[in-house]
Amino acid sequence: MATIAFIGLGNMGGPMAANLVKAGHKVTAFDLVAALRNQAQSDGAAIAESSVAAVKGAEIVITMLPAGKHVLSVWNEVLPAVAEDALIIDSSTIDVESAREAHALAAKHGVLSVDAPVSGGTGGAKAATLTFMCGGEEAAFAAAKPVLENMGKKIVHCGVGGAGQAAKICNNMILGISMIGVGEAFVLAEKLGLSHQALFDVASTSSGQCWSLTTYCPVPGPVPTSPANNGYKPGFAANLMVKDLTLAQDAANTAGAVTPLGKHAQEIYQAFDAAGHGGVDFSGIIQHVRALAGK
Ligand code: NAD
Repeated sequence: MATIAFIGLGNMGGPMAANLVKAGHKVTAFDLVAALRNQAQSDGAAIAESSVAAVKGAEIVITMLPAGKHVLSVWNEVLPAVAEDALIIDSSTIDVESAREAHALAAKHGVLSVDAPVSGGTGGAKAATLTFMCGGEEAAFAAAKPVLENMGKKIVHCGVGGAGQAAKICNNMILGISMIGVGEAFVLAEKLGLSHQALFDVASTSSGQCWSLTTYCPVPGPVPTSPANNGYKPGFAANLMVKDLTLAQDAANTAGAVTPLGKHAQEIYQAFDAAGHGGVDFSGIIQHVRALAGK
């Protein structure tokens, strides 16, 4: 069992740290928010008074923070205090450029590093069923895998530093686009007098089949566990989809890729967010699509 520092105890980091405790690791945790530190303590973690104090003596450091600027700031702060033979993992969703910069910082301090963003949402974080998409050297990935297995069920090595973030934003660009496509198909079906169930029965076993339809169906009924049956409570909030599609567009611009549907999807979710629906599950985008007919 390892000595682990966990920094960032929010919606995702809190339950992830709790799962490491459950797996028998010695976890020292820190967040800027006192209530989250208290929660981690009642989940069995030791609490540090700062990020730097948390990493003292840690074999593995994990960060789960909002964005690239927070990750770079925390890594800059803690790396001088991290042991040379330690491993540092960032599981936040951040821009590829910042992820690469973070790897370079770790290398400067002689510390192995992995970018390991996740999919699976808060439900996956609680149930320890997350998918981790990892970027980093082979040795760093080999060291990270056993500990990530305590928080997830699928751990994929995607390539060198930054490759995990690249995989995450490419995947979420598919997801953002496909959910709008599925929503549009249901709205067209409604106008054509075709029932939701009939479209589902055909498309779920035909070439229109995709995760947005069969696991996360945006209309109530066909998939009882989808957020559509629960008032579009997230799940994965629309404002997080805006974040990921914006990261995808930033990466496309930097890398010289042209992704017209990714860009249009970003604009559609931004409009939904701007209309006050950022906290709604992203599958609620069907309501925005439906409302377009009235305009
Ligand atoms: P969150 O805002 O709930 O948690 C982030 C935490 O980081 C906060 O508690 C904040 O206080 C803490 N923090 C910020 N700066 C800090 C610092 N300098 N030192 C210590 N703590 C600091 O966010 P979340 O939902 O837990 O998401 C975390 C990351 O995971 C994000 O990058 C997000 O995009 C990604 N993600 C979220 C989900 C989801 O469904 N929530 C799913 C996949 C990926």
